[in-house]
Amino acid sequence: MENEKETKPLNFIEKIIEDDLREGRVPNDTIVTRFPPEPNGYLHIGHIKSICLNFGLAEKYKGICHLRLDDTNPAKEDMEYINSIKDDIHWLGFDWGEHEYYASDYYDQLYEIALDLIRKGKAYVDSLSPEEMKEYRGTLTEPGKNSPDRDRSIEENMDLFLRMKNGEFPEGKYTLRAKIDMASPNINMRDPALYRIKYAEHPRTGNKWCIYPMYDYTHGQCDSIENITHSICTLEFDVHRPLYDWFIKTLGIYPSHQYEFARLNLTYTLMSKRKLLELVQKGLVSGWDDPRMPTLCGVRRRGYTPQALKMFCEKIGVSKRDQLMDIQLLEWCVRQDLNARSNRYMVVEDPIKVTLTNWEPGKVEWFDCPLNPAEPEGAKRSVPFTGELYISRADFMEDAPKKFFRLKPDGEVRLKYTYIIKCNEVIKDADGNVVELRCTYDPTTRPGGGEWRSVKGTIHWVSIAHARELELRLYDRLFTQADMSDIPEDKDYKDFLNPDSLVIGKGYAEPAILDDNSGIAVQFERVGYYYKDPDSTPEHPVFNRTTVLKDSYKPE
Ligand code: ATP
Ligand code: MG
Repeated sequence: MENEKETKPLNFIEKIIEDDLREGRVPNDTIVTRFPPEPNGYLHIGHIKSICLNFGLAEKYKGICHLRLDDTNPAKEDMEYINSIKDDIHWLGFDWGEHEYYASDYYDQLYEIALDLIRKGKAYVDSLSPEEMKEYRGTLTEPGKNSPDRDRSIEENMDLFLRMKNGEFPEGKYTLRAKIDMASPNINMRDPALYRIKYAEHPRTGNKWCIYPMYDYTHGQCDSIENITHSICTLEFDVHRPLYDWFIKTLGIYPSHQYEFARLNLTYTLMSKRKLLELVQKGLVSGWDDPRMPTLCGVRRRGYTPQALKMFCEKIGVSKRDQLMDIQLLEWCVRQDLNARSNRYMVVEDPIKVTLTNWEPGKVEWFDCPLNPAEPEGAKRSVPFTGELYISRADFMEDAPKKFFRLKPDGEVRLKYTYIIKCNEVIKDADGNVVELRCTYDPTTRPGGGEWRSVKGTIHWVSIAHARELELRLYDRLFTQADMSDIPEDKDYKDFLNPDSLVIGKGYAEPAILDDNSGIAVQFERVGYYYKDPDSTPEHPVFNRTTVLKDSYKPE
């Protein structure tokens, strides 16, 4: 593992950082990155890429990563989101220490900076309505037009901006804009808005302000205020970089450099916060933490682990081209991690009763079975064996082909960890459904005792008298289409919701499962990984299917 890390080629941001460090371009040789979520929703799998990158770089180069909540839009933001973001990052295993910042902490400073821009003749108060502003802005092919207010005097701008702040005007009446270039080929440079009037209560500053700084103005300033050395964001912000650089030059502030990387997109998954919010609000999922949601709290409830998510980020790397990653790679990472670490239990989902006709009635024999086969000498669980058992319906076949090595009439199979049994008789109900198999066990085949004899098939089982009934929530993909960015004009993303994304099932489990306190998903032997849901109680245990045990997918 250590070696693998050392020989892994650097990604393009690591290359830049190593060059900067080598050339002495980093103050105190300490890189400073930040993860800057807007607290208007829950974090999702896409954010993990940014978190692993920003926190990961700080770890790797012994730098610092700030958590900055970019809370510039009070109408859409909420303490609930702020708290969930912090919980989620901690759950992933990253920590920002004392470096927890909020754009709103800088509102006084940002206001002073705006005054500075006005004094320098680089900002003006505009009375164009939002519609007019749009009209004056021009298009990608046509330059914009100067606002009639563009040449207001500095005194007049100062006076109006102060009065905007004092709440003398209604929303939309005035806007503070940067004075750059209405003919710039880059629309972001056509006198972008810096402040708007908004009478909204802010989750942190309450009613102190009725003017709020725009995202584009705030974002770069915050990076400079915090001396961020490497400001890493997603590709769509590359056209905003000239504006950030303009602020740096005009104001002479700390030159945080911005580097852009490709967003992560996943097949069968949507990551737009707006759409995720809609799914929650319309009740199409049970909440932000519905195990089908791509949110961190959703995948956590599904049973995905931080280790698996980090492994996934390592595998996908950091590119400059947009990627649609195969969700199977993520599922593969989850299985890799759980296979190594999860405890094993036997659970039968669709049972058939097996009666051992030569078993002494009422006798219970306990078998010590390893919780994890990778550690045969490690911790054990005790599994009761009796003469009345459940096996999975799928493990029996009446007219079995030659290659079917599980149970069939007159055939033999090993019941995992225990004896070999032989099926002597098949009992059916009036409709011809198999309801019971009458079998005999071979007492000489007890592992560790008697004679070792092998048969081709081994199946799992549960003692009926000891079985605990579980509610199983069998989750599948939320959407039916792989590329959810490619929705036809006449359709809506909700038309692609998978009607079978949740099926409620039932399982019969060996009793030890209820005492499991590993905190991660368990493996139902031969079936899949399941995670105990927070809804679960000792009287009514509930398990979520994390993923099936195997599929044919292999990463490249
Ligand atoms: P929205 O969907 O509401 O526009 P956003 O996806 O940009 O918002 P933010 O909260 O602003 O969400 O994101 C915080 C950080 O996470 C940003 O730096 C952003 O670039 C990054 N990020 C967001 N989505 C992804 C993604 N799919 N892949 C990689 N990084 C992402
Ligand atoms: Mg954003």
